[in-house]
Amino acid sequence: MYTELRSPNVHEPKTVGEYSDTVINYKGNINSLWAGGTFIMSRKDFYPSPTTNVEIINLKDIEELYRLQRNDRYAEIGSMVSLNDIAQLGKNIFPKTIISAIEHTACRMLRERISIGGTLCTQGFTSSVASVLVLLDTAVELIIPKRRNYARKWLHASRLYDKNGRLTLNTNYKNALVSKLRIAIQNFDFEYFNTSGDPMLEPEASVSLATVAKLDQNGIANARIIITFPSRGFVYNRDIDNMLGSLQLPADDIRCKEVEKFILAFIRDNIGKITPIQEARLKGMMNDMIMTLNQHILTL
Ligand SMILES: Cc1cc2nc3c(=O)[nH]c(=O)nc-3n(C[C@H](O)[C@H](O)[C@H](O)COP(=O)(O)OP(=O)(O)OC[C@H]3O[C@@H](n4cnc5c(N)ncnc54)[C@H](O)[C@@H]3O)c2cc1C
Repeated sequence: MYTELRSPNVHEPKTVGEYSDTVINYKGNINSLWAGGTFIMSRKDFYPSPTTNVEIINLKDIEELYRLQRNDRYAEIGSMVSLNDIAQLGKNIFPKTIISAIEHTACRMLRERISIGGTLCTQGFTSSVASVLVLLDTAVELIIPKRRNYARKWLHASRLYDKNGRLTLNTNYKNALVSKLRIAIQNFDFEYFNTSGDPMLEPEASVSLATVAKLDQNGIANARIIITFPSRGFVYNRDIDNMLGSLQLPADDIRCKEVEKFILAFIRDNIGKITPIQEARLKGMMNDMIMTLNQHILTL
């Protein structure tokens, strides 16, 4: 039987201005940006398909999106820069958490293709790299297409998502393009990153946890924690940070259990019931994180 298949139109803008023109002129039709292509290509029925992706904008020719710049305080990274290049550039200057999150993402070959912009902006999938960038107060520059022009706007990476870590970029800024990120060069006394399960193949079993903190003789001076569930979003909240910050170190089993209970109740109330395997893995990570904190405080 003959089934009609329509090839997608592929647009290849050379500048962000051309990107903006394309989006404005094809209003309503364009439904896919192509960065590294790794997520799009792995979707069921992506191509060829008569119903999906009839207009694609490939970002590969926009030179501005590959730029890298750094000074003493931060590095600015174009959204088409690959995860591998960021790990290489940042190995000695960025917090270890982001390097670990990148190194735990897929295999090296894929990391060479996966762009940092695609990592932040994948609908329905939250990468642990994206949540670590939120944790590190990364700023993101958006290109917002306008008739005959476009606007640039900087915002905190968390504003790409709702309070439960689900991408809302296109709801708040229609057709906006992430053009660059600003990652601060900063030091923490304590950093922890752990991930379990394959986020692509078994998103309902996978979970990751990242923590950064400043420590002093009295214990934790400033702690931040983010927990990622690939198919649901992330959990990042001041109440959890405060709970961890008020922990007397070294913490015993009873205090560990209290923190665990508080965080699991928060997750249930905000993003809903997680799977038993996610819960078991998360408990293990929280316990390991607090034990590592204990060791750190004892060596201060
Ligand atoms: C085999 C495999 C294993 C993987 N393993 C992991 C893993 O272990 N951990 C993990 O976190 N992820 C994993 N991933 C997912 C990977 O992180 C995503 O595929 C990645 O986020 C997509 O990046 P990309 O550059 O390929 O984006 P694309 O696939 O090209 O695009 C993804 C989405 O982002 C949007 N987008 C891209 N760039 C921009 C931009 N600049 N501005 C606005 N929107 C944009 C696109 O419209 C699209 O909807 C894996 C993927 C595969 C295929």
